[in-house]
Amino acid sequence: MSSSELDTGVPAPATIEVDEAYLAFVRERRAAILARLEAACARSGRSASEVTLDAVSKTVGPAEVLAAMRAGYTSFAENRPQELVRKLDAFAAAGIEAPRFDMIGNLQKNKINAVLGRASLVQSISSLTLAQAVSSRAERTGLTVPVLLECNVSGELSKGGFAPDEVRAAADELGALPALSIEGVMCMAPAHDADAARRTFAGARELREELRGRMGFALPTLSCGMSDDFEIAVEEGSTLVRLGRIVFSAEYDLA
Ligand SMILES: *Cc1c(COP(=O)(O)O)cnc(C)c1O
Repeated sequence: MSSSELDTGVPAPATIEVDEAYLAFVRERRAAILARLEAACARSGRSASEVTLDAVSKTVGPAEVLAAMRAGYTSFAENRPQELVRKLDAFAAAGIEAPRFDMIGNLQKNKINAVLGRASLVQSISSLTLAQAVSSRAERTGLTVPVLLECNVSGELSKGGFAPDEVRAAADELGALPALSIEGVMCMAPAHDADAARRTFAGARELREELRGRMGFALPTLSCGMSDDFEIAVEEGSTLVRLGRIVFSAEYDLA
């Protein structure tokens, strides 16, 4: 099923068909991605077991997700709550155990209830007011929500997230929210600029260290790196890379 079919509100079919040729492509890609991930870990003296991978499935449908699961991916990420819910529903309708899905995109307050208990990790907590809203809704349902603080380390106006000073100032209040389990920091780097990406990831790592000290939490997760910059992110300490096009798209050039 294509994502455009999903957008027209066509109900999820009761089966999910995996295309064998696509599965072969995703398997081959995965081997190449893991080899690069391991090489980046080796260059920086890290163990490959320190880095996990989210397959960002926002541009594909449940069939491609199922192919990726067969190829070995276990964790996925979506940037729209509606799409995350639709994918989970498609798996439920097909009687297939769904993989974990993280939420990585802008979360509006009126969509919080849709992802509560369904997103495994909400990586896109981008303001104190959003953190407070998620915590209070989760409290009402008796849930604790694992989250990351999305930080805008590069300062680009086009990017969301806490400014570093903002998250420092909010650290005490964030740390006191009863229904959030704050597990780390997420960031995005400027596109097409390897040096700026490296500075951004290093900045995110330092910010996480600082927040660790201020909040007294372990903050084990540093979610940095996408298709174009994940090797740099791993060299700078990322523990979670979010890969979309390189996982799913044959048009994405590996060279
Ligand atoms: C789409 C997206 C990704 C994946 O980007 P690719 O360049 O396709 O790997 C990662 N993180 C976020 C927040 C995204 O929206």
